[in-house]
Amino acid sequence: MSTTFDLGVSAAVPVAAWGQARLLAGTTSGRLDLSRHREVHGLPRRYDAAQLATALACVGLLGRGGAAFPVAAKLRGVATGRRTHVLVNGSEGEPASHKDRILMRLAPHVVLDGALAVASALEAGHLTIVVQDGLSLASMTAAVRERQDARAVRLVRHDHGFVGGEVRAVVRSLSGGPAAPPGRRVLPTVHGIDGRPTFASNVETFGHIALVASLGVDRFAEVGAPDEPGTTLVTLLGDVPHAGVLEVPTGLPLAALVGADHGPVLVGGYHGTWLPRASELLVSRPALRAAGAPLNAGVLARLPQDTCALGEVAAVARWLADESSGQCGPCFFGLPNLADILDQPAVGRPMLPDAYRRAGLLPGRGACAHPDGSAGFVRSALEVLDEEIAQHQAHGHCGRPLRGVLPTHAREAP
Ligand code: SF4
Repeated sequence: MSTTFDLGVSAAVPVAAWGQARLLAGTTSGRLDLSRHREVHGLPRRYDAAQLATALACVGLLGRGGAAFPVAAKLRGVATGRRTHVLVNGSEGEPASHKDRILMRLAPHVVLDGALAVASALEAGHLTIVVQDGLSLASMTAAVRERQDARAVRLVRHDHGFVGGEVRAVVRSLSGGPAAPPGRRVLPTVHGIDGRPTFASNVETFGHIALVASLGVDRFAEVGAPDEPGTTLVTLLGDVPHAGVLEVPTGLPLAALVGADHGPVLVGGYHGTWLPRASELLVSRPALRAAGAPLNAGVLARLPQDTCALGEVAAVARWLADESSGQCGPCFFGLPNLADILDQPAVGRPMLPDAYRRAGLLPGRGACAHPDGSAGFVRSALEVLDEEIAQHQAHGHCGRPLRGVLPTHAREAP
């Protein structure tokens, strides 16, 4: 049986690993500088684009930012050459998620190794890392200065919230436009930064690419689920056995992370899905997607008994409405309207079916997935919070205060 250990690096956001850490290997006493990083991880292999894509396909690596797109397929879709950009998206705009910031602060060279491996394979002329917060930026800046091979890396502070951190919004911003998704669906692999081919992915994804390059395919695949080998970073919050950022082998029972108690579980964060219980599900992206609850950026939560669950959902719904870039109908009208209904102090019998119905009208009508994800969060909550809803309908409240277990502001982890 694996055990967890506390890496002890942050009082506010505990960091731990289930079993043997990989991305976070060697960080028990803090951030790894380059020499310590090399002691722990060694030198990564060098690949050309075809070799790297083959290696990533062999381990079935899926993107860790939300969409879980196969990384090998994305790599094969990008042209090689000096015009090509590589973009590391570290704009972790979901306030419940801390895993990318923790990775950049503790193991910046893992991220850099992955980014440089992709840039080298693609023979790319440009490598940009966007970072949301000051401490991560400081860590990445120090790491870049430590190495000769990172001289051309561009670091950009990009703090534009949840929707503004969506990869197409980041690409648009880096191209001189606003930090909002473009009105039409364009693929960064074809039309990315400055209109050039761009391989863009999340910070954690590049960390796993570095592990493939340092461990090799066979060792990488020694742990984890057969359908998604390796480890993954999750952020756990609420009434769970180990709150904080945890590196876990894929394939663990979901109940091991959120507890086996009855009661709703949130899988996939604020664009995620509430499930009535953890049941027999395993933590792998293919398994959770098949169960209708994609892992997205890895946020898992269970609400404690002493908070108003409906109030927690309403607060997140308001935050989601406020985060939209307000340029499409479902966000301009639909999300604020939904938040207004849920904000009523006594959410009454006629209101909840109306909220459920209105949430069902939102998906598929925006220029990005924000209304779809937001509607899924609200609708699934209304499906599983039946006890809470019954109390609100009977008494106008549930008698519990709103504790703000689901954060709705970006918190700086120290
Ligand atoms: S769907 Fe919403 S968040 Fe997405 S681009 Fe349109 S207004 Fe902005």
